[in-house]
Amino acid sequence: MKKLLLSKLDEWLTTLSETQRIILPIKQTDQVNFGVYAPGAEVSLETLRTVKSAKDAFFPQVENMMNFRSEGKSISVETVPLEEEDFILIGVRGCDEKSFEILDRVFLSDPFDPFYAARRKHATIVTLACSRPDENCFCTNFGVDPTNPKGDVTSWIVDGTLYLTGNTEKGEALIASLEDANDEPVAAQQNKTREILEKLPFAHLDLNGFDGDHLMEKFSSSKWADLSEACLGCGTCTFVCPTCQCYDIRDYDTGRGVQRYRCWDSCMYSDFTLMAHGTNRPTQVERFRQRFMHKLVYFPSNNDGTYSCVGCGRCLVKCPQNLNIVKVIKALGGDRNDN
Ligand code: SF4
Ligand code: SF4
Repeated sequence: MKKLLLSKLDEWLTTLSETQRIILPIKQTDQVNFGVYAPGAEVSLETLRTVKSAKDAFFPQVENMMNFRSEGKSISVETVPLEEEDFILIGVRGCDEKSFEILDRVFLSDPFDPFYAARRKHATIVTLACSRPDENCFCTNFGVDPTNPKGDVTSWIVDGTLYLTGNTEKGEALIASLEDANDEPVAAQQNKTREILEKLPFAHLDLNGFDGDHLMEKFSSSKWADLSEACLGCGTCTFVCPTCQCYDIRDYDTGRGVQRYRCWDSCMYSDFTLMAHGTNRPTQVERFRQRFMHKLVYFPSNNDGTYSCVGCGRCLVKCPQNLNIVKVIKALGGDRNDN
């Protein structure tokens, strides 16, 4: 175990940033999001829940994929170089770290995504344990231990000190120069946090029955109409979600050629996967059902039981209509308190 006084954090980050890009929670215009560190940035490690998740580090909201240039009658294709530089991603909470496992299942299986894979390969991930989970957190339902998240390095903040332990070779190398510490303060904090977690209102959702064997039962439930009635189709829930990974590919005419880029898309939008014959899900009920069936039934039934939700609580906090996945789980039978 190593330690670093939080008062020395900027100094450490400045030194690290001389050789590698650092991405971590930064406060900008009253919001905290993952951003690239520069000396003087308002780092906010203690923010429990960044507005957007850490997935942007591997799957950015917009990225260029290739360019086409035309000269006379000839067209040339320019590839976009992959991001092959090492970087450090700091302050990742256990839920967001778990989301990388879900994204890997999508982007690193056939068809393999080289843009995502390059970033994953070059990242050193420093997770940060939670000590003050709030009433919107329910990650423990999905196998996350927020008191001991994974990553190349795990860190904890206790009384103004950052404690760090390496889990991989590159993690160990990253923190090698820091001062040695004993782990007693960390163990004490973990025990206190586990007591809080146990008492959270959504700590004990019952996910039994959310699997491929109950697909038609969940799909045909009469509850979907009521559950989705207030949905605006704004897509906020998908944009803040660490596990949503749908994207669109578009061409932009720059005047000198065409830029082909991809950008996040949302299954909540009426033009999502729009085809010449129209759309497969013409109503918001169908779109709403698709989002939650995918997270709770389709994805786990195709991925060894792994749900495509990590209980981060962002959709609970951000939906303007107060709709969310917990309400869906409860309505479809997943509330142990109702049994
Ligand atoms: S954030 Fe809420 S209102 Fe907006 S699309 Fe998602 S469920 Fe619907
Ligand atoms: S569905 Fe909601 S709680 Fe689950 S990972 Fe996405 S934003 Fe977080």
